[in-house]
Amino acid sequence: MDLNYTEEQLMMKDMARKFAENELWPVVGEYDDKHIYPEDIYEKLFDTGLATIGVPAEFGGAGIDFLGQGLITEEIARGCLGVATAMVASTLLATDPIHIAANDDQKQRWFTKMLEEDKFAAFCLTEPGAGSDVGGMSTTCKKTDGGYILNGVKCFITNGGVANQYTIFATLDKKLGVKGICAFMVDRNSEGISVGKTENKLGIRLSNTAEVVFDNVFVPEENRLGEEGTGWMTAMKTLDWSRPMIAALAVGCAQGAFHHAVEYSKIRTQFGKPISSFQAVQFLLADAAMDIEAGRLLYHKACALKMDKKPFSQAASIAKGWCGDMAMRVTTDMVQVFGGYGYSKEYPVEKYMRDAKILQIYEGTSQIQRIVVAANLLKGLR
Ligand SMILES: Cc1cc2nc3c(=O)[nH]c(=O)nc-3n(C[C@H](O)[C@H](O)[C@H](O)COP(=O)(O)OP(=O)(O)OC[C@H]3O[C@@H](n4cnc5c(N)ncnc54)[C@H](O)[C@@H]3O)c2cc1C
Repeated sequence: MDLNYTEEQLMMKDMARKFAENELWPVVGEYDDKHIYPEDIYEKLFDTGLATIGVPAEFGGAGIDFLGQGLITEEIARGCLGVATAMVASTLLATDPIHIAANDDQKQRWFTKMLEEDKFAAFCLTEPGAGSDVGGMSTTCKKTDGGYILNGVKCFITNGGVANQYTIFATLDKKLGVKGICAFMVDRNSEGISVGKTENKLGIRLSNTAEVVFDNVFVPEENRLGEEGTGWMTAMKTLDWSRPMIAALAVGCAQGAFHHAVEYSKIRTQFGKPISSFQAVQFLLADAAMDIEAGRLLYHKACALKMDKKPFSQAASIAKGWCGDMAMRVTTDMVQVFGGYGYSKEYPVEKYMRDAKILQIYEGTSQIQRIVVAANLLKGLR
């Protein structure tokens, strides 16, 4: 594993850091408070190319490698986990199935559409009755002349209310189990699609999370990704691809809280001294530094294995599971460094703690990651 970043990776990391510090830090507190979806920020994210980092160079994108995507993700999350989540859900999670299962014509069509018209996408897998047990989904795709009719409700969908293209999973027949699941690309303007409830959330309040309702939506056959019945494999591979990015989100969120806590510890005085001179505070900071560094190495390892075309599913789940828990631990401790002021919205650190909780829930909860890791290790996989 090469720990030297390339020139291009360093340049993109730096650009993302500047975006986070100049465009996010000054305003995210107010948007979070009012629970407003900040369209202006997302427009800027799109204009800089950061919102489309998943589009390969051959289709007009920047062609950023997997570790580079992780570094950008980490830096945007250091600024705001809500904005970073929306970015990852659109340009990585929702477009990974295109990389994994689309033919060349489909890639050309959907990547171009994303760059030229759609801007944001959403990945529609979860349903009210199918969360961790997502193989038990009820959304159906019934075959008809020239395509399929989709019916069902997807819930908790990041960008669900604002995306212009949806990647959706549905079953031909529930009795077929996961072998009946198909993946589709669906245009937001298709007749029969509506946006249901928008969630009022504890954290990541700058991201849109909504229900998407499919009521007799016709989807042409050419929008199906891969063969009939391969949707489950596409979904599982997609989660393998995106879990290192969730780990990168976690590292960025923890790093943001840590940054603010270090600065505060140097200026806050008690007993006539900066609180950074007290060993108890130093140890909170040192533990956080060790946690963040370990998390960074875990997601770098998963990225390195993928870029070397080696199996990385186990490394991806280890990174996602560990980093999600780590971000919760670190952000809680950074609130502690601030004392009472950490509990107040006057300072940015409580937002990091509220935001961090989602990292233990989406893309497979911390419990589900442990189930995956245990199953893999008992099969002898690294
Ligand atoms: C803000 C937000 C954004 C999201 N974005 C998206 C998105 O863009 N696209 C999408 O498709 N989904 C999205 N999700 C959905 C998310 O992936 C699910 O919420 C998650 O997978 C958990 O499913 P659930 O909420 O139904 O919980 P449940 O599956 O009901 O789990 C409840 C509890 O039971 C535990 N549990 C469940 N099964 C087991 C088991 N076998 N063994 C041990 N413990 C178990 C879980 O760990 C959890 O603690 C999002 C969710 C949120 C909150």
